[in-house]
Amino acid sequence: MYKTLSIFFIFWIVLNLTGIIDIGMSMGNPVKHKLIAGVLCLDFINTINGHHSGTSNEYIVHYNDLIVWACHAKIFDQKMADFLLQQSAAHPHTSEHIFHQAIELRERLFKIFSALYYQNPVPQNAIDFLSDIHHKGMQHSNLVQKEDRFKWEWKFDKNMEMVLRPITLSATRLLTSENLKRVRECSGSDCDWYFLDTSRNHQRRWCSMKDCGNRHKMKQRYIRLKESLQKTKIIK
Ligand SMILES: [Zn+2]
Repeated sequence: MYKTLSIFFIFWIVLNLTGIIDIGMSMGNPVKHKLIAGVLCLDFINTINGHHSGTSNEYIVHYNDLIVWACHAKIFDQKMADFLLQQSAAHPHTSEHIFHQAIELRERLFKIFSALYYQNPVPQNAIDFLSDIHHKGMQHSNLVQKEDRFKWEWKFDKNMEMVLRPITLSATRLLTSENLKRVRECSGSDCDWYFLDTSRNHQRRWCSMKDCGNRHKMKQRYIRLKESLQKTKIIK
């Protein structure tokens, strides 16, 4: 009986690990994208997975996805999202251009943070690209006082690329802050999501305990069970 249950459990784990049964990571819909990074620019990098594995789980395949995701990530409210979606319908060539610019930005950000994480040289062209797009974006902002501190406030200029500005600001802030050394890549074997490790002991390993953390735990249990079944076989 124990052996039958063990075999069934192994079979179930294999299905999970191979993705035949989805254990929680939903893909495709920008509204379902899990915002786990703790920083906007890293969540933006995480709108795709599979840089290392070569498989692609993509949340943003059109400008409209970018707007829906930006609203989900609280870059702006629904009213602004509706306005930009209307603009997208009215100016499809512009929206196509900004979509490609956004993907380029995301890939360059990945290269920057990935290089830093693996202690490789940071590609200068990626820094130049970020710096250039950030510089253009900041021309549409004002420094305003909010109670006891100041913040950058975006001008409402109806420009469809306004969606990129908070992302580049987030990236440049992170790159110039002490938090940079707390940026981590998920330890999941098929995951390359990034996050800011704000845990007390700075030992966070997973993008999400429910997804990659759970997969790892199941994998370990699978290995242990397999070994114990093999031992039983040998003893008999
Ligand atoms: Zn992960």
